Amino acid sequence: MATMGGSPIIVLSQDATRSKGREAQHNNISAAMAVAEAVRTTLGPRGMDKMLVDMLGDVVVTNDGATILKEIDIEHPAAKMIVEISKTQDEEAGDGTTTAVVLAGELLKRAENLTDLDVHPTVIISGYSIALAKAKEILEEIAINVETSGDEALLKIAKTSLTGKGVDVAHGHLSEIVVNAARAVADEYGVDIDQINVERKVGGKVNDTLMIDGVAIDKDKVHASMPDSVKNAKIALINSSMEVKKTEFSAEIAIKTPDQLQAFLDEEEATLRAMVEKVRDSGANVVVCQKGMDDLVQFYLAKNDILGLRRVKKSDMERIGRATGAKIITNIDAISAEDLGEADLVEERKFGDEKMTIFEGCLDPKAVSIIVRGGTEHVVAETDRAIHDALKAVGCAIEDGKVVAGGGSPEVELAMRLRSYSSELKGREQLAVKAFADALETIPKTLAENSGLDQVDKLVELRAMHQKGQKTVGIDVYTGELSDMWEKGVIEPLRVKRQALDSAVDVTTMLLRIDDVIAVSKAPEGETCAPGEPCYGGGMPPMM
Ligand code: ADP
Ligand code: MG
Repeated sequence: MATMGGSPIIVLSQDATRSKGREAQHNNISAAMAVAEAVRTTLGPRGMDKMLVDMLGDVVVTNDGATILKEIDIEHPAAKMIVEISKTQDEEAGDGTTTAVVLAGELLKRAENLTDLDVHPTVIISGYSIALAKAKEILEEIAINVETSGDEALLKIAKTSLTGKGVDVAHGHLSEIVVNAARAVADEYGVDIDQINVERKVGGKVNDTLMIDGVAIDKDKVHASMPDSVKNAKIALINSSMEVKKTEFSAEIAIKTPDQLQAFLDEEEATLRAMVEKVRDSGANVVVCQKGMDDLVQFYLAKNDILGLRRVKKSDMERIGRATGAKIITNIDAISAEDLGEADLVEERKFGDEKMTIFEGCLDPKAVSIIVRGGTEHVVAETDRAIHDALKAVGCAIEDGKVVAGGGSPEVELAMRLRSYSSELKGREQLAVKAFADALETIPKTLAENSGLDQVDKLVELRAMHQKGQKTVGIDVYTGELSDMWEKGVIEPLRVKRQALDSAVDVTTMLLRIDDVIAVSKAPEGETCAPGEPCYGGGMPPMM
């Protein structure tokens, strides 16, 4: 409400809630910190897992920061922004989501302490951005170039990413799969891990997870007497139905004699037989059909030793097409040898109780699949997520060729160098750069805490060793000792660390700039508020 010439001018509607200045900032920061606090305990290989239960009672058990934040229903606008950075981190680097969120929470907390000392938010913002630029410079300096043509470093990266995700029993085996799959799809443009087809199959152990040099689809042959496997497969992809077409309106045929009935049935049979002959004459020995397949068609295909699959998903059709070079055909009459795809082997294989069909040795060497196994649905889902993170981490390392040691070592090194850099700065920005350095040390502190170690003791020891020039010393969370993380094989892509800094500073800056939060109370069109319920429309949910 403002006044002009004595009479008040009403700008906001009466129902609008508004918080301004320090209060608004404090609310936002508290909400963001609450989110960071929620995922903090999952950081590192000995971090705990979260069990998320939705309204229908479905359960997700995970250690993955991005997954936790994606699944929980967050209302507060500032908290939502933190969730956004975990998504960005996941998209850009695949890993480091918890790190980014924890860092953001810490940067905000320290910013709030500074504002209590009357340092203006714009000064903090500028200090943080100076610190970020310097930190990235130092990161580049301490990064180590890896020979990405050899597998040794990549295997370690995969293993580091997989540790602590509940798949530790199998991480040697999974690392190999991850590295092989990432290599298979790597080309001069980079590593597009989306090309890797990951299928979940509940059953067996995590150690039974396997990579297939080709495409795997969740279908089995339609007729028992079809061959189980076909070598030198010639594959026809058909997206029209292999049945006698039903008319769209009902028609009646008056049949008066048994001969007429026989003639009618013969006609139908002839049509279907001709369909199969067309396919056979093209040279196809595997038929993949997106739609239905008449019993007679199945029978004729089987008689001709052709392996047939029906009702295959469109996305699988396309995948087979890309992998084998097969063209998707709509008109069976026009099928020819050129439309067929090729694979060394098409085979039905059993996984647990279920069968899948595998297309191996395809024309396109980039066609690879991973079949994730595990005792329960939850284990399989968490393994799939862990594999996804690891694939992305290995992909980043192949693309950039630069990695850093983990276990909190880069954060301690950065903090140390930033502190000494800050003393060169004049003005209050110095305070913000120092605060930035302190915030970085939360990572080793949290790693220590989550492993049941004393965080202060460990941090003091770590600082001392880094002062002596031992750049890669971090916390071995399994023994509780400090050790050289590089030698322990705990390594991560540089991009994960750099992106975590970028994401954390981005969201911190954005939240610090806000000094006015107005919750508009008008419901968006089409939505009504229940009587007596507060009504938060226009994307502005209630303040905590
Ligand atoms: P994020 O979502 O940030 O990747 P994680 O739970 O995967 O969170 O934990 C990552 C942190 O754990 C990194 O700082 C990494 O260096 C550290 N880390 C991973 N493996 C080890 C290990 N074996 N010993 C010590 N630290 C490790
Ligand atoms: Mg991780």
